[in-house]
Amino acid sequence: PTPPGPRPIRRLQEAVINRIAAGEIIHRPASALKELIENSLDAGSTSIKITVKDGGLKLLQIQDNGCGIRKEDLPILAERFTTSKLSTFSDLSRLTTYGFRGEALASISYVSNLTVVTKTKADTCAWKACYADGSLTPAKAGATADPKPCAGNDGTTITVENLFYNTPTRLSALRGSSEEYNRILDVVTKYAIHNPHVSFTCKKTGSPSPDVSTPSSSTTLQAIRLLYGQTLAKELLQVSVSSSAKGKGRAPSTTGDISDEEDLDSNESWSAEVQFTNANYQAKKMTLLLFINHRLVESSRIKKALEAVYNGVLAKGASPFIYLSLQIDPRSVDVNVHPTKKEVHFLNEDVIIERIADAIHEALIGQSQSRVFEYQT
Ligand code: ADP
Ligand code: MG
Repeated sequence: PTPPGPRPIRRLQEAVINRIAAGEIIHRPASALKELIENSLDAGSTSIKITVKDGGLKLLQIQDNGCGIRKEDLPILAERFTTSKLSTFSDLSRLTTYGFRGEALASISYVSNLTVVTKTKADTCAWKACYADGSLTPAKAGATADPKPCAGNDGTTITVENLFYNTPTRLSALRGSSEEYNRILDVVTKYAIHNPHVSFTCKKTGSPSPDVSTPSSSTTLQAIRLLYGQTLAKELLQVSVSSSAKGKGRAPSTTGDISDEEDLDSNESWSAEVQFTNANYQAKKMTLLLFINHRLVESSRIKKALEAVYNGVLAKGASPFIYLSLQIDPRSVDVNVHPTKKEVHFLNEDVIIERIADAIHEALIGQSQSRVFEYQT
């Protein structure tokens, strides 16, 4: 039989292109929530309240008390590549905020029904706006798409409904609402531990009590105790490891509050704060909370190195809990390589990982409560 002739090449519709792109950024409800939490933190919030229905597939709502969004910015809020955080290409290397590409809200608007209610301190009322495919859309048939005045507190409430309603393959690839809810709780728990000055709650709609609830102005150690339990918390050790390019020292933290901003102005300086369980603690699976420059990320190299440290310390089959917050010069992480991927790479990765691993190992063997290590780079 003769092969079929070539088919005509056509330009995809923009909405189709954007829906495909959105699926690469928003993999599941928990990845949408991660973006939304980062936006709320970028907005300076001290309270973040999350409500979830059906594992986030029916409803994912996040209410913050941050700076809010100006009414005049609402028309372009959900367009692709609109952001308040980056304006020149060189800004990329100085990023101190979580977001930078202005893609999260756009992506969410392409694969769900997105509603934003927001109020800045200067506004006398809140404004409500609905979005579809990157643009404002009427809340119901016959209405105009313009933002509507409404009652509301200072801050922003983002409501994501019917996630993936228009991408049925993605919807069917997800594991069901209780698995998705567990992933949501995992993201909230990790951000709550890394941001103990912010109060987080997360609950299912209709449920009387939240599944995660933290106070504001707590410490990392207190947050770990609250969310992972005293049995784990009482076995925690802590180390601070840093390069001392300028010979600047760091006092050991006695309060357990290790979330303070570090001043990383010198070229190669880096610092790490680690809380990790000692040999008395034995979990079946390793829990690793890894933050690089305050972003929750994954690194298989760091994970492997940490597993190796515990190899000789814990019995076979036993695993630790580790919270590791690493701050490196933003110029040495190329955030733009895999903007959507959690797996990150950075300059001098091997050296930095080795030093952190050594410090943990020494503390585990010495079993001292708190140690400070400094290295000349
Ligand atoms: P990015 O975070 O990369 O800038 P997003 O699509 O996540 O892109 O958000 C676009 C813009 O919307 C942000 O730059 C910010 O100005 C604004 N924004 C989003 N969420 C919030 C929020 N919770 N509070 C205040 N402003 C927000
Ligand atoms: Mg963002």
